[in-house]
Amino acid sequence: MKVLKFGGTSVANPENINKVKSIVQKLDKEKVAVVVSAFGGVTDLLLNTSALAARQDTAYKESLKTIEDKHITAIRELIPVQNQSSALSKVKSDMNVLETLLEGSFLIGELTPKLSDKIVSYGELLSSYIISEFFKSEGLDAIFKDSRELIITDNNFGKANVNFEKTNQNCIDFFKENKHQIVVLPGFVSSSKSGDSTTLGRGGSDYTAAIIAGAVEADILEIWTDVSGMYTANPRLVKQAKCVAHISYEEAMELSHFGAKVLFPPTIQPVLGKGIPIAIKNTFDPENPGTLITKNTNGNGKTVRGISHVGNISLLSLEGPGMIGIPGISKRFFETLSLKNISIVLITQASSEHSICVGIADEDVDVAAEAVNETFEYEISTKKIKPVIVEKDLTIIALVGDNMKSHQGLSGKMFSTLGKNNVNIRAIAQGASERNISAVIKKDDVKKALNSLHETFFEENIKQLNLFVMGVGNVGSKFLDQIRQQKKYLKEELKLNVRVIGISNSRTMAFDENGIPLKEWETVLANGEKADKQTFFDRIKSLNYRNSVFVDNTASAEVSKTYADYLHNSISVVTCNKIACSSDYTYYKELKQLAKQYNSPFLFETNVGAGLPIIDTLKHLIASGDKIKKIQAVLSGSLNFVFNTFNDSVTFHDVVKQAQEQGYTEPDPTIDLSGVDVMRKILILARESGYELDIDDIANEAFLPKESLETDSNEAFFESLKKYENDFQKMYKEAANADSKLKYVAQFEDGKAKVGLQKIPKGHDFYNLEGSDNIVLFYTERYPNQPMIIKGAGAGADVTASGIFADIIRIGNF
Ligand code: ADP
Ligand code: ASP
Ligand code: MG
Repeated sequence: MKVLKFGGTSVANPENINKVKSIVQKLDKEKVAVVVSAFGGVTDLLLNTSALAARQDTAYKESLKTIEDKHITAIRELIPVQNQSSALSKVKSDMNVLETLLEGSFLIGELTPKLSDKIVSYGELLSSYIISEFFKSEGLDAIFKDSRELIITDNNFGKANVNFEKTNQNCIDFFKENKHQIVVLPGFVSSSKSGDSTTLGRGGSDYTAAIIAGAVEADILEIWTDVSGMYTANPRLVKQAKCVAHISYEEAMELSHFGAKVLFPPTIQPVLGKGIPIAIKNTFDPENPGTLITKNTNGNGKTVRGISHVGNISLLSLEGPGMIGIPGISKRFFETLSLKNISIVLITQASSEHSICVGIADEDVDVAAEAVNETFEYEISTKKIKPVIVEKDLTIIALVGDNMKSHQGLSGKMFSTLGKNNVNIRAIAQGASERNISAVIKKDDVKKALNSLHETFFEENIKQLNLFVMGVGNVGSKFLDQIRQQKKYLKEELKLNVRVIGISNSRTMAFDENGIPLKEWETVLANGEKADKQTFFDRIKSLNYRNSVFVDNTASAEVSKTYADYLHNSISVVTCNKIACSSDYTYYKELKQLAKQYNSPFLFETNVGAGLPIIDTLKHLIASGDKIKKIQAVLSGSLNFVFNTFNDSVTFHDVVKQAQEQGYTEPDPTIDLSGVDVMRKILILARESGYELDIDDIANEAFLPKESLETDSNEAFFESLKKYENDFQKMYKEAANADSKLKYVAQFEDGKAKVGLQKIPKGHDFYNLEGSDNIVLFYTERYPNQPMIIKGAGAGADVTASGIFADIIRIGNF
């Protein structure tokens, strides 16, 4: 004989119930017990309705009507008209009873656990009855049997304890006598010795099926639900979760105990001793093999089999100097909780015996705290023990696997994964069976913790990076193109799954939690909401994704002020915006420090030389123990263009104008021509070399006359260039006569930095620098005479975007 259980979603509507019928029909002549849940959502509805009645809210009537309609509709759609009458009148009469019960509750304004169980049992009683009638009308050899006549419990309403002796005998007797192929039974419901309706706890229909399977020693227990088996983590929260094909009873029990709702925790117990296998199958994909649960499986060589979590947990801690060495404190503590019928989900005790800490359901914690404080009233009054400390809104997250005990380093890996992702661990526990390592964390961190642990233990090195991109102009849009083009390569070759979750320009911003389709980012952004820097940050923070990266492609000082907030929340920052690194030294230092403290890189390779690997090289030189003695560089693409184009047959004015028109300078050309941009760049290199420098410490031997620098409009600026043309020609001639070229050079030596125009003689590394190229010479202890040279295009959207891209990959490898 087989026992099949169909959950709420599997019987949520006539369409699904037809799927159930097909599955049962396929069993041919084999004897089968079919245990069903209430129609999807009905248990919640019944509980809400009774809560309304108990609050003396007449809305309960409306709610009851919804319940009635749901069942009437099912009958009308499933059963042919000529056979409907008995089912319809059964529903009507049950509804009358329900109405009377609710009315009673409404009148006295109270709902006892006993009455609640009586009311809620109608969900399963009705669904099973209707399904049995439907089966019959389809020509199946089916009957209905009320589980309350078989499963006998104590009076612990809401979560009754089964009397197995009586129950097993009842089941054996009934199924021995039964001549029908299919018996349809309500899950969840049972009755006490005195004949009152009881229930087995939320999700308890699984248990009903297991109790019957155990009693009649069924060949198999099949749990039919809405997922294809037991997964490595809850598939609703972890997209990459995979079905575990074969798992042991103990592993399944741990996973369900720690929140894998797909199986009600006590379900394993009745079948375990008899070795009856459990299959978890999907009603909506019946061919999928799902999960098989049996005795020891050897874990197929794997250590961690699943990650589960249980929410709404509070920690209750008792501590104090008076606890050390005094026997019996734990006993009194646990006894107190047990007398209040409070179940403990997790226990930790420090080896110093200085404290005991337990995890219990949020809903129990107030009662528990009061009771424990009462028990230890004397010790608290004499200050030997402190009043209990309560922390609410926590979640337990657990790694489970039979083979974990024989492997070192798993807990280290677990905690470092959580630590790297800035998930704070409040308590830890490892079961003596070593089949489970649990950590208590904040509720808000659950999704991030589950996904990062899943990545570490199940995803063979695929790391997900979640990008939030601000600024989608020239550089930003090129960057998004590059990400799109390289997505496949990144995944296959570098094991990086890069997703862009949010984008913003100065007008609008848009988010997609599954990743913005990069082919259509422009449309997505155009249809986005109004842009706001603070909201952008708040959203990223509340999404709380692991490996989040904020990418700043703007040149905005305001945006650069937000970096600290990001780093503070373990969100890495990648920026081509120079302002943060070249403004106040203390801010630069703070950002670097935050990056270290929160394990989130702050990278800005493109601040100097666009895509050229200048800063990264400098970091490697220093990390390997080298010392920077001197840096000499041409770092301005704009000035390079100007001086490469300027000669005695053109005017300086015309060349600068051309540079401006062709986009080689900032819209305000004085920013480039004054050397400020170059000052910022050499300042960043000096700081990265380990020197504490500010922009005012840099000498700027300006080549422009003071008057030009102080103009207050572009027009006035260009006018002044005309006025000083002779001086510019003189500069050019002096250089040409000395067989030299003019280059705007930045230099850092002996802790001092300067920028200015220099005559570069033929043969010098700078002499042949073309167009807008940059060049940097690093003179170090290891490169004292022949410097290390980095040279190439130092401006342009494409190369800058590729520099940002390189920073993203660095974070991926972090
Ligand atoms: P039913 O109504 O069929 O009893 P449940 O809702 O009780 O179904 O259980 C199935 C649900 O359990 C899934 O939809 C999924 O959201 C949740 N779940 C949690 N953890 C896991 C897991 N590790 N594997 C599969 N499902 C899980
Ligand atoms: N209907 C009950 C509940 O929703 C029992 C079950 O479906 O397993 O909790
Ligand atoms: Mg369930």
